[in-house]
Amino acid sequence: MSFNNLDQLYRSVIMDHYKKPRNKGTIDDDGKLTVNMNNPTCGDRIDLHMKVEDGKITDAKFLGEGCSISIASASMMTEAIKGLTVEEALHMARIFSDMVLGKDYHAEGIDLGDIEALSGVTKFPARIKCATLPWKAMEKGFAQEKWNEED
Ligand code: ZN
Repeated sequence: MSFNNLDQLYRSVIMDHYKKPRNKGTIDDDGKLTVNMNNPTCGDRIDLHMKVEDGKITDAKFLGEGCSISIASASMMTEAIKGLTVEEALHMARIFSDMVLGKDYHAEGIDLGDIEALSGVTKFPARIKCATLPWKAMEKGFAQEKWNEED
């Protein structure tokens, strides 16, 4: 596949997630973990909700507004992390960060699926923060101490 075709494929995957975001909404559950995060450079905003049970992410939803990259990234991320353990999700966040920064990334044994469509963001440094916003929100959420459902 030529680079041009790959670009087109990536663009259509991103636009599909932007126009039909997966997991848009909120989780109505006392045990949910909520994180708000903004990307002032672009005006992107995300409210991320996650539900963790026995160390596994059983649900993830988001509300937000912003550019196509930030919304598509949130849609892809919430799809990808459901069913993963917190550790696995944080590992995926590190892979994602390396990918969009144009570093070597090693995703052996991990199914990135649609997420790989955001690898083209490396060519647009101003948009990297848009792509990483939801992932940073997830990392911030798990860094907070009050997420444990036993609280
Ligand atoms: Zn943006």
